[in-house]
Amino acid sequence: MVIEPKVKGFICITAHPDGCEENVRRAVEYSLSHKSIADNGPKNVLVIGSSTGYGLASRITAAFAFGAATVGVAYERPSSGRRTASAGWYNNAAFEKYAAKYDIPFDSLNGDAFSDDMKAQTIEAIKNTMPGKKLDMIVYSVAAPKRTDPQTGEVYSSVLKPIGNPYSEKSVDFHTGKVSSVSIDPATDDEIAATVKVMGGEDWLMWINALKENDLIAENAVTLAYSYIGPELTHAVYKDGTIGRAKIDLEEKAREIDKLLSDIGGKAYISVNKALVTQSSAAIPVVPLYISILYKLMKENGTHEDCIMQMNRLFHRIYDSSSVKDVPTDEFGRIRMDDLEMADDIQNRLKDVWSIVSSDNIEEITDIKGYRDDFYSLFGFGLDNVDYSRDITDF
Ligand code: NAD
Repeated sequence: MVIEPKVKGFICITAHPDGCEENVRRAVEYSLSHKSIADNGPKNVLVIGSSTGYGLASRITAAFAFGAATVGVAYERPSSGRRTASAGWYNNAAFEKYAAKYDIPFDSLNGDAFSDDMKAQTIEAIKNTMPGKKLDMIVYSVAAPKRTDPQTGEVYSSVLKPIGNPYSEKSVDFHTGKVSSVSIDPATDDEIAATVKVMGGEDWLMWINALKENDLIAENAVTLAYSYIGPELTHAVYKDGTIGRAKIDLEEKAREIDKLLSDIGGKAYISVNKALVTQSSAAIPVVPLYISILYKLMKENGTHEDCIMQMNRLFHRIYDSSSVKDVPTDEFGRIRMDDLEMADDIQNRLKDVWSIVSSDNIEEITDIKGYRDDFYSLFGFGLDNVDYSRDITDF
């Protein structure tokens, strides 16, 4: 069968195995060409949320820039009948192929990271993949729409809404380039609480507790979770909205985890990353238009980075420091990988473009084309050296 993109809103329900492999191959090559010379880098790494976006980039960086054995946990859909697997499924298969080729130990688990069962299975996998060793890095990069609380069985759904007041702002349908105003009603208290349950730090803390109880965390280990802040114009729907509340909780849990790891000299960090096209960020209102303008300005400036470039820079920033406790941070202890995005000249120019952008000029004054390309590329489509006419029978 010839596999083509089938897009529904901000999701593509098909994925191309060759295209996904090509994306992973490029990220592996990038990491191999940015190999660390430091010998204090991570050697045994667990990535939770390892199949797409920042988690996949973290795993590839750990394995190919630092030579680390990795265990990855993700929740992806295999193929069935004439339905392709999800992109993350193919990404994971490609990761495993390259890890095997370079003789780098790995194991991957597919299932619900929020469940007790997946934590137990992962603990066994770590013992088998890294015999007699302990984790020196744990990356928590889950972005999920729902979470079942393992203790109560209750299901929580996250929402992307403002808090307090309705919010109206420009937004774009990135398929058509139509710019219009979106209005979003504020979240209820229950919706805020549910979003914190799903995207806050409770599950990260549960993972660290489970790993520590099993004596699987090494001395001086680092654990990371990712956040976003962004400029004023996205604050109502991000930083000051429901997802922002979840990120405040993530920061609180980072402080708790920090205390939990203090007896073994470990450290928990929040890394504030750049806005990038991922399956999760495509779902946030206003953000695709913001990213389209941001890409144009950062590419012109020569400062644009994708997920793999961000994660390589992050890992090098951590392990080039004299100790994992001395990584440069902001006043709240967060690592700021969004430094290039938030640079004054970029943000000032962005405000000017934002004030005039419309359906008529969006193709000229923004990089909406780059946004679309990146969106299709997430699912393995539109890459220049992939044969999309190939008849694929074993997807
Ligand atoms: P993504 O959608 O690309 O990746 C999410 C990962 O979580 C996937 O590997 C998926 O399989 C996994 N996952 C989802 N539900 C799961 C479950 N129940 N069990 C196990 N795995 C599950 O998302 P992303 O954009 O890379 O986001 C990762 C983190 O980075 C999030 O905390 C996000 O807020 C943060 N972040 C993203 C951006 C951005 O612009 N994309 C910017 C800054 C920070």
